[in-house]
Amino acid sequence: MDKLKEECGVFGIYCPGEDVARISFFGLYSLQHRGQEGAGITVSDGKKLKTVKGLGLVSSVFDEEKIASLKGHIAIGHTRYSTTGGNTASNVQPIVFNLQAGEVAIVHNGNIVNAAELAQSLPGTSWQSSTDTEVIGRVINNTPGKNWGEKITNAIPQLKGAFSMVLLTRQQLFAFRDPYGIRPLTLGKLNGGYVVASETCALDTVGATYIRDIKPGEVISIGRNGLQGEGQIKSAKKSFCLFEYVYLGRPDSIFNKELVHQVRQRSGEILAYEAPVNADMVVAIPDSGTSAAIGYSKASSIPFGEILIKNRYIGRTFIQPEQRIREMGVKIKFNPLKKIVKGKRIVIVDDSVVRGTTIKKIIQVLRNCGAKKIHIRVCSPPIKYSCYFGVDTPKRQNLIASKKEVTEIKKFIGADSLEYLSLPGLVRATRQKKNDLCTGCFTGQYPLIIDNKFTKNILELKKIAVSLVIPEGKISPKKTVTGRRSGVKNF
Ligand code: SF4
Repeated sequence: MDKLKEECGVFGIYCPGEDVARISFFGLYSLQHRGQEGAGITVSDGKKLKTVKGLGLVSSVFDEEKIASLKGHIAIGHTRYSTTGGNTASNVQPIVFNLQAGEVAIVHNGNIVNAAELAQSLPGTSWQSSTDTEVIGRVINNTPGKNWGEKITNAIPQLKGAFSMVLLTRQQLFAFRDPYGIRPLTLGKLNGGYVVASETCALDTVGATYIRDIKPGEVISIGRNGLQGEGQIKSAKKSFCLFEYVYLGRPDSIFNKELVHQVRQRSGEILAYEAPVNADMVVAIPDSGTSAAIGYSKASSIPFGEILIKNRYIGRTFIQPEQRIREMGVKIKFNPLKKIVKGKRIVIVDDSVVRGTTIKKIIQVLRNCGAKKIHIRVCSPPIKYSCYFGVDTPKRQNLIASKKEVTEIKKFIGADSLEYLSLPGLVRATRQKKNDLCTGCFTGQYPLIIDNKFTKNILELKKIAVSLVIPEGKISPKKTVTGRRSGVKNF
């Protein structure tokens, strides 16, 4: 699909007496929408860590035998989409470090913008991956502190950007979040133990009860002594990602006390007031636009209907980054209900438009089916700027709204009308204060100053990534990497 690519999903559990690997597997399953390129779980039995990870979907990386081999009472897991580093087996998380004090594993959602700079401050390092996650792990280990809680808390001010992370030692689980709280991280309780996850949908799936979100800049630990606060770096400005509400999060997740489905529904309602139109039916592009389309239909009193039947047995098309394959994916993904489309004035509600290529093709298909009018209503403002915090936006010049006015976009996609939700309208739908949200990809105003140096740093890190990429042909797409990495003695 023509969508921004999600970042990653993280999961962690401390629960003696439970099959933590199996619970993590189901937790990751529910976070699959946050990354489809790789998945992994590391388990500790109190003495040693064991990892199973590989490229591909959660269901293709794990089978019964692999899950049964992961014995212990603490676990962390990850679903990956590569925002920095390449899509290689070595970049799949958890990343495990073999230290003198014992092994440590980490998982990360987000992007730090000073990764290259920090990497350069660690000369002589034998890098095992090309990700900013490894940089973060090494910075934490090199930071003074009496224990891991202190090390993490002391390291946070050095890390610029977005990070919601879980760290596993032999005895403890640590969860922490950047001081802006850009990416979500939530805490739940399960059978006398605790669970942390990127989204509350993962807590629901494993039967955990939501307790609260991990606060921006907060570090917690979970171990033999239960849940403990390890420290908190004061937040300069809370900046939760607005796009999590628009598209990234699952509709059944709750961010900052607001159910994502209801936020999207409200955004559709507000858009119906901001951009009304006469039509016979309101439709969604399944599935991401459905909640917003229901809201638009409710507020406009235009009936909601289905005209596109989605083939649910193919993956999200954006997981294949090649343009040629992406285009093929669009054609096989949706089949129109021709009889219903014919002669109708249709409002298509979508959550966002990135390149405009998918919506253009859908409009062509519906015109061929005899649609009388096609009006596009987008439940977010135009995306004009890149994201530096864990969402893989195309180059700015490929964001259609960065170079075209709305009237030009309307012409390009072939719609009879095109309207976007205003930024105040979207913020109102979230019921958050505008100052508590990152709106960077819509406004170009980021929580951190993104100067040329930061931008260059990302490119630098990508250069490091390229130099470390394993040659094509040496990786089987479903290859599973098990156990510990050898040859990594210390940070
Ligand atoms: S720039 Fe956009 S996608 Fe990135 S964190 Fe900010 S709101 Fe989210």
